[in-house]
Amino acid sequence: MNEAPLIDLAGVGRTYLAGGAPLTVLQGITLTIRAGEFVAIMGASGSGKSTLMNIIGCLDKPSVGVYRVRGVDVASLDGDALAALRRDTFGFIFQRYNLMSDLSALENAEVPAVYRGMPQMVRRDRAGGLLRDLGLGDRLKHYPSELSGGQQQRVSIARALMNGGPVILADEPTGALDSKGGREVLEILEALHGRGHTVILVTHDSNIAAFAHRVVRITDGRVSSDEQQPGKTASPAAPPEVAGAPATRDLAVLGESVKMALYSLLNNRMRTALTMLGIVIGVASVVALMAIGNGAKQDVLDRIQAMGTDLLTIERGPPNVRASGAIVTSFLPEDLPAIADVPGVAMVDPETELSSLLRYGNHDLTVTAVGTAESFPAVHDWAVAEGSFFTADHVKRYAQVVAIGKTIARNLFDPGTSPVGAYVLIGNAPFLIIAVMAAKGSTPRGDDLDNSVWLPYTTAGARIFGQRFFRHVIVRVAPGADMNVVEDGLHALLIKRHRIEDFNIRNMADTIATANETQNTLTYLLAAIAVISLVVGGIGVMNIMLVSVTERTREIGIRMAIGARGFDVLFQFLTEAVMVCFIGGLAGVAVGVGSGFAMSSLAGWRVTFTPAPILIAFFCAFLTGIVFGYLPARKAARLDPIEALARE
Ligand code: ADP
Ligand code: MG
Repeated sequence: MNEAPLIDLAGVGRTYLAGGAPLTVLQGITLTIRAGEFVAIMGASGSGKSTLMNIIGCLDKPSVGVYRVRGVDVASLDGDALAALRRDTFGFIFQRYNLMSDLSALENAEVPAVYRGMPQMVRRDRAGGLLRDLGLGDRLKHYPSELSGGQQQRVSIARALMNGGPVILADEPTGALDSKGGREVLEILEALHGRGHTVILVTHDSNIAAFAHRVVRITDGRVSSDEQQPGKTASPAAPPEVAGAPATRDLAVLGESVKMALYSLLNNRMRTALTMLGIVIGVASVVALMAIGNGAKQDVLDRIQAMGTDLLTIERGPPNVRASGAIVTSFLPEDLPAIADVPGVAMVDPETELSSLLRYGNHDLTVTAVGTAESFPAVHDWAVAEGSFFTADHVKRYAQVVAIGKTIARNLFDPGTSPVGAYVLIGNAPFLIIAVMAAKGSTPRGDDLDNSVWLPYTTAGARIFGQRFFRHVIVRVAPGADMNVVEDGLHALLIKRHRIEDFNIRNMADTIATANETQNTLTYLLAAIAVISLVVGGIGVMNIMLVSVTERTREIGIRMAIGARGFDVLFQFLTEAVMVCFIGGLAGVAVGVGSGFAMSSLAGWRVTFTPAPILIAFFCAFLTGIVFGYLPARKAARLDPIEALARE
């Protein structure tokens, strides 16, 4: 080290601007203190002693003049460098102890070492050792409220020594103590000086000042006298160095932040629970609504898929013209062989549906009569439950045979009696039931597919519909054939045969894509609603964090005085906000999954949980913590340590 004095003030003044007229508290202070000195600063109350002490301890800055620590002008240092000085060089002892009430004696003493990056085990040991040396071996786990004033002040001395504390700054350390407690503290300070610590003691009591070897008097903000005490010498020893470990600093700060966040959340359980509720509801609604949206989508897609994905539907009527089908009469049985010959076509199935009256005995039913060909079950993968479907021969012969759907069979026949072999009237013509089809369920639009009867298109056209043409022709594409190529082939063929484009071809893949899109839009809409509730929850978090920062302003001041950087404070409050959102997010996922399952079992909705929405919701909650915690945390980090400490 060079020979620059430890502490060197030249022409230092301090003027407070707050509260109307500027108030000059210190002026022209020129003072040099060397390592190993024991200096008492004396003066009447209000003379500016604390202001001077705060400047020396780098909690405050001079308004005019230069203050150098070991030759370095503090005006040239940034916030982090000042924090490092407070952390490693100065050890503050306050009149009112300034311990953190949520922390035990041991934890309080440890805090400065956290900001120095001392590993937890090492700092535990060191804090314990210091407290034992100060006679508090049996009070390590006690909280400040369980300690006497003298004991609290000794904890604060241990804290000041935690990082070595080569310069002890004690601002009226005995002011709040009885004479016995005060003497103990003074004896400790004397002993520390003997071990090489530089001690600067502020007092208004000359009996206390007598312990020092140099007394500086302040009157009305100026140095009025500066005297050596006879018979006292500066300590030649240097205080032991304390190892720092900057590498583990961030980890130590993270650990402390998580611990403090937990304490804070546990100490305000009701408030924490209510704040979390917003996040829980937000995340749960994202998870549940997305699952419901996905379930609905899967449902629709499955129903479409069940109708077959390798089908092309040729509808009559020109493309993109609605409701013109009725006048187009060009789809005739003669087209079928030509369509079947198109390369890639595996099966062809013409269909015409018409709502018709079915009579059996004295029962009348309105059913969907479908005029179709023998290929119908194969094209639609529709199994025959009883009997057998009509054949090409039935079609050719205009046979009066019919296959009926499961719903009709159930409605007209007793269980146990087979409908096959019975006669029904459709329109006015009698038909022999030759098959019952397996149940198929409903269309996406909710029509019951099993409330249908299937007749040869020849018979249906002649006896019921009174028309030869078909409503649509369904083509099943051969396995491995390209849908689009087959579609083009059909298109070309029909243009050639009909000379005009009086048809349009629908591809199942297109239908699925459209349905997919529609359902996705719905899901995104649900997601948007859910995200809004998450944002509302986030605002709740921000609100509570602002309250928390206001409540804990003094704690922030203490932390800064003992070496926390602005970033450390920011990080601590951010951790608290993120933790609320993290725990809220976990609970929200649980509630969301739970209510999703509840919804599916109570309302019978299909819910599909996929990892993505759950992860996104959880990540959003995390992000909410950071975004909405940032503002309050920054407010905390920007607090002026002096003002924060002054707050009650
Ligand atoms: P001492 O410690 O010697 O009793 P202080 O240094 O605390 O005196 O205060 C000196 C003067 O500065 C007092 O008159 C006090 O009212 C004023 N003062 C202290 N802090 C502030 C502040 N933050 N804003 C305005 N005035 C202040
Ligand atoms: Mg004071």
